Amino acid sequence: MKYYIKLKAGREKSVQRRHPWIFSGAIESESPGIPKGESVEIRSSKNEVIATGSYSPDSQIRSRIWAFSPVEMNPDFISTAIRHSIARRKGYEKELSTNALRLINAEADFLPGLTVDKYDNIIVCQIHSSGAEYFRTTIIATLSELYPDASIYEKSDDEVRAREGLPPSSGLLKGQDIPDEIEISENGFRILVDIKNGHKTGFYLDQRAARKALMKYAEGKTVLNCFSYSGAFSMAALKAGAQKLINVDSSLPALETAEKNRVLNGFAQESMENIADDVFKYLRKCRDAARKYDIIILDPPKFADMRSRVEDAARGYKDINLLAMKLLNPGGILLSFSCSGAISPEFFQKLLADAATDASKDFEILEH
Ligand code: SAH
Repeated sequence: MKYYIKLKAGREKSVQRRHPWIFSGAIESESPGIPKGESVEIRSSKNEVIATGSYSPDSQIRSRIWAFSPVEMNPDFISTAIRHSIARRKGYEKELSTNALRLINAEADFLPGLTVDKYDNIIVCQIHSSGAEYFRTTIIATLSELYPDASIYEKSDDEVRAREGLPPSSGLLKGQDIPDEIEISENGFRILVDIKNGHKTGFYLDQRAARKALMKYAEGKTVLNCFSYSGAFSMAALKAGAQKLINVDSSLPALETAEKNRVLNGFAQESMENIADDVFKYLRKCRDAARKYDIIILDPPKFADMRSRVEDAARGYKDINLLAMKLLNPGGILLSFSCSGAISPEFFQKLLADAATDASKDFEILEH
């Protein structure tokens, strides 16, 4: 390989422990003039090649690891990684009775910066690192070969790309133009996904198991669905026989999709209410009005994306959880989530325990 990055003494440890990123501060020296996205040898301070990565000159994350060993980087390597990732998920669609699933989960599939979701016959990609951008043609060609009849649409996040020094990039990459709304199914209910205008790739596939878990408890219940987005938790609850759902989200378009989803599934109008409000404020309004619910769902966006924000995030999580705990009927159930990578599961559980103590409520953990 033509280019290298050499690490400072002692900074090899995180690579040896398989952390997929190399920060600029860990670098002792590097080849001059490495082009953006090019593949580089990652060398220890003793000049052994310990990994192979991509080069991101504009980001603090200077390199993302393709392999924790010396490998020859070429289109074949990427194509093989894509095929392996998809092969691992073979059979999921049938087993999970859904036509929507994540095919490639970036770093977790050894393809840093590349996320690929499949909604029915539409493949949605996010190309978020210089390294993934470098292999863009191979990525699209491999996906086209594996799914010859599918449309491929790019829905990359402009901000994330900007941090890598990449220009915005979204739109149709292959096949027929995609409709504004695609219908998918999950756990026996139907959901409209707005890929072009929705969040991320259009839908929060990662909460499928939690939505299924909710179905065990929802029959006959009154449910407050906070941070509801397009109402997927609500569809699950109503499908399971919940009496009443209240969606709260600050995004009007998300609530409009939630309403369409109710109609699509044939649930009665009075079974679901949509409230466009800030959850922090709405929970206080419920407290002041002494409202009570059987089930409350808290699925907020990421409150902490970096270590430095952990304290603020913890305050936010404690606040909404404490409020929600007080709004539950006796025997009520709280579904509480965090997608903040900087907050560990142990810390999150401690936050919930603190909130329960302050709310003077006893809780039992039913499921993780
Ligand atoms: N539970 C959803 C995903 C939630 S994503 C599902 O299963 O599909 C987080 C949602 O929180 C987004 O829809 C966003 O619009 C909303 N949101 C973010 N901050 C908010 C706030 N302060 N108050 C209300 N909604 C908020």
